[in-house]
Amino acid sequence: MAQEDVFKKLVSHCKEYGFVFPSSDIYDGLGAVYDYGQMGVELKNNIKKYWWDSMVLLHENIVGIDSAIFMHPTIWKASGHVDAFNDPLIDNKDSKKRYRADVLIEDQLAKYDDKINKEVAKAAKRFGESFDEAQFRSTNGRVLEHQAKRDALHTRFAKALNDGNLEELRQIIIDEEIVCPISGTKNWTEVRQFNLMFSTEMGSTSEGAMKIYLRPETAQGIFVNYLNVGIAQIGKAFRNEIVARQFIFRMREFEQMEMQFFVKPGTELDWFKKWKEIRLKWHKALGFGDASYRYHDHDKLAHYANAATDIEFLMPFGFKEVEGIHSRTNFDLSQHEKFSGKSIKYFDPELNESYTPYVIETSIGVDRMFLSIMSASYCEEQLENGESRVVLKLPAALAPVKLAVMPLVKKDGLPEKAREVIDSLKFHFHCQYDEKDSIGKRYRRQDAIGTPYCVTVDHQTLEDNCVTLRNRDTMQQERVAISELNNIIADRVSITSLLKTLQ
Ligand code: ATP
Repeated sequence: MAQEDVFKKLVSHCKEYGFVFPSSDIYDGLGAVYDYGQMGVELKNNIKKYWWDSMVLLHENIVGIDSAIFMHPTIWKASGHVDAFNDPLIDNKDSKKRYRADVLIEDQLAKYDDKINKEVAKAAKRFGESFDEAQFRSTNGRVLEHQAKRDALHTRFAKALNDGNLEELRQIIIDEEIVCPISGTKNWTEVRQFNLMFSTEMGSTSEGAMKIYLRPETAQGIFVNYLNVGIAQIGKAFRNEIVARQFIFRMREFEQMEMQFFVKPGTELDWFKKWKEIRLKWHKALGFGDASYRYHDHDKLAHYANAATDIEFLMPFGFKEVEGIHSRTNFDLSQHEKFSGKSIKYFDPELNESYTPYVIETSIGVDRMFLSIMSASYCEEQLENGESRVVLKLPAALAPVKLAVMPLVKKDGLPEKAREVIDSLKFHFHCQYDEKDSIGKRYRRQDAIGTPYCVTVDHQTLEDNCVTLRNRDTMQQERVAISELNNIIADRVSITSLLKTLQ
C-alpha cells in the first residue's frame, strides 16, 4: 500500500477509535487544532509519564516544574522570539496556497536523495551479492551527477538561510523549477518573514491592556526559574504555523516536553553529546527498530545555539523531526539578566566563582511522538483463516487499555465473574469490560485500539477459576489462573519495565 494511503487510513482510524479528532468538528474544524479522545488521552498520558519518569526519577539532578503559559512580554523580547521567531513564507499565485519556502527547498533536497537511492537500489538488484555500494556511489555517473546537484543546492540553501536572504530563497525555488503541488505552476510571490507567536491582551480596558504572547515554547518558563540542575517541564505551546498539514505533525496548539540542563561553560559540547545518546536510547527502547531513527545535524543554527541536532523518525511521509537537542549557550540567561536587570548567575563552590551557566535543551513534541508511535504501530494483517485485522502494535507500556475482560456469553453468571476479575485488577492497570458481539469481533475491537491482552471468562472458569489469556501480537492463547493474572501482566505492561531498559 502506498505510504500516503497508510497515512489516510491512520487518520481515519484515529478518529473512529477515539484517539484524535479535529477540534470544533461540528463547525468544520479549526486549522491545525486537534482534540484527543478517550483512547488518545490515555496514550498521551502514558507517553508523558514515560518521558517524565525517565527524566525526574532516573536523574538525581533533574527536577520538574509547571510554569504559567502567560509570562511577562519582555521575556519574549529577551529570548529573541519577538524579533527572530519567523518562518519564510511564499504563496503560489494560482492555487493561493501558502508554503514555507525552506520546506519547499528541503523537499527538493529529499528528491535528489530519492533519485540517488533509487539508482543504488536498482544496481544492488542487478549486481546481487557482489554489489559494492560505496564504490558504486563514488563512481556511477548518474549518482555523481545527482549528488553534485544536491550538494550545490544544499550549500546555496544553507548560506541563504544563515544570511536571512529571502530573495535568494525565492531565486533557489525558481532556479530549481519547484512547482506548487496543487496548481503545478511556478507562479510564486516574494518570500516574506512571518512571526509565529500568537498574541493577546491582558488587562480590562483597551488603554490599560498589555500585549502578551501565548508561549511558543515551554523553555523560557524554565530559564526564569533555573537552579543549577536540570529542569523538566511538560506543557502547551502555541505557534501560528504557516502551513498546517499532515494531521498532528504540525499544530497551532501543541504540547512540549522540555528539559533544560544547566552546565559549566566549556563543558556544554560534552553534555550535548551525552544528551543526544540518552535521548536516542529513550526512543529506541520503544522497540520500533533502530532503522526508524536518525540524527539530523542542523546547518542553520538558531540565534541562540552553538550545536543542534534533531532526532528524526521514519513517518509515513519520510524521516521527520520528533525531537530537537540544542546547545543553547548562555544566550537566554544572559538576555534575561540584561532585560530584567537581575543577576541570575550561579556560584560554583568548587571553583569559588560565579558564572552564567550554559544550557543543553532536549525538546520533544508530545503530539509528534504520538503520531510516530501510532504510525509505527498501525498494521493491517492477513490471517490464516482468510480474514484480515487492523492491529495497533503499541508498546504495551503505552497502550491506553492494558487488558480487556470478556464473558463468553452474557448469562450464566459469566458477566459477574468477569466483573470480579476487573475489580481485582483495575487498581493496577487500565481494564475494559466488553460483552457485546462475538468473541472474534471483540478481539478485533481490542486489536484496533492496541490492547495487549484479552481475557475470556467461560463456563469452565466458574469451576476452576482459570481464564483464557490472549496475546495481541501472536494471537496465542493460554489458560491461566485468575490469581496469576496480575503477576503475568503487570510487569509486561508497566512503564517501570520500560524505564528499566534505559539503565
Ligand atoms: P519544525 O522545524 O518542524 O517547525 P522546530 O525545529 O521549530 O520544528 P523546535 O522549536 O525544536 O521545533 O521544537 C521542539 C519540538 O516541538 C519539535 O521537535 C516538535 O516535536 C515539537 N513541535 C514544534 N512545533 C510543533 C508544531 N507546530 N506542532 C507539533 N509539534 C511541534
